[in-house]
Amino acid sequence: MPETIESDKVTVGYVIGTPYCGSTIMGMLMNTHPDIVSVGETAVSRRMRRIGRTATYPCSCGNELQACPFWNEIVKQVRETVSGFGFDCWSHVYTYDNRLADAIFYGYSGRRPIRWMREVAHSALPPLRKKLSIAKVANEAFYRAALAVGDGKVFFDSDKSLFRLRYLLHHDALDMRPIVLTKDVRQYAASGKRRGRPVADCAREWAQHYRLAAHLLSRHGNGNYIHVRHEDFCQTMPQTVGTLCDYLGARRVELSDRFSPRTQHVLGNKVRHSESLSIRSSTSWRESLDSREEAVALKEGEELMQQFGYQF
Ligand SMILES: [Zn+2]
Repeated sequence: MPETIESDKVTVGYVIGTPYCGSTIMGMLMNTHPDIVSVGETAVSRRMRRIGRTATYPCSCGNELQACPFWNEIVKQVRETVSGFGFDCWSHVYTYDNRLADAIFYGYSGRRPIRWMREVAHSALPPLRKKLSIAKVANEAFYRAALAVGDGKVFFDSDKSLFRLRYLLHHDALDMRPIVLTKDVRQYAASGKRRGRPVADCAREWAQHYRLAAHLLSRHGNGNYIHVRHEDFCQTMPQTVGTLCDYLGARRVELSDRFSPRTQHVLGNKVRHSESLSIRSSTSWRESLDSREEAVALKEGEELMQQFGYQF
């Protein structure tokens, strides 16, 4: 049975996954649902913020952010709650603009001492506590503004940051519904190989990410999450979308597997600049990995691949 949406809380579908797991395209498709709003990543990347290119950052609609009516309205509405919020001040992010502070304090680490140090620092050090409390208010204001401007009931967040989710899961005004999105470890390793990275390292990183996600959900979640294979999403899109709608408490609506990012206001992945997109599965790893590399990738990811129900 679909879960009903509690009117006083903001329902947020939050994607958990590695880079290139297909979250951007899933977010854009879900954004075509009349009751769901997604903006891809919820802030301009750290790199662009550091070099001060935020107001001129290109939205998928073709405008720079400073000229995009959708984003300007969001900024205006969030500012009613969080003064100073703007294209040069994304108060809802948990990253630090200072590189050293970011390296020390940001991230949901797989190493227990580091995780512990960050937990303690964020509860004991006044500047960090202040940042968390501002981010808490700003995230709620951001989600509410996006739903108001985008005229939706459920926000679909493709941001993927585990550290951010760790705090949002404890936010009383948010009804977080995590979505663990996976893509075959061999596809992830093949993407890494194309970028010049060793296959074994990529496969290890893939496994580490999903182990860490499981740890985060077991520790901070309420047992409520859904797992979606990107491959199923592509091959049986209507069924997967139906399952996601049920999980998010949104009505089941038939969505077209072809859409234009130009009609949306999405940040993040470069696919947002495409004229039109269609949902299709990629098995390009078959051409990119030889049998030895495939074995290496599977060795690192085998246990999780089985858990996730992949056949190999
Ligand atoms: Zn736009």
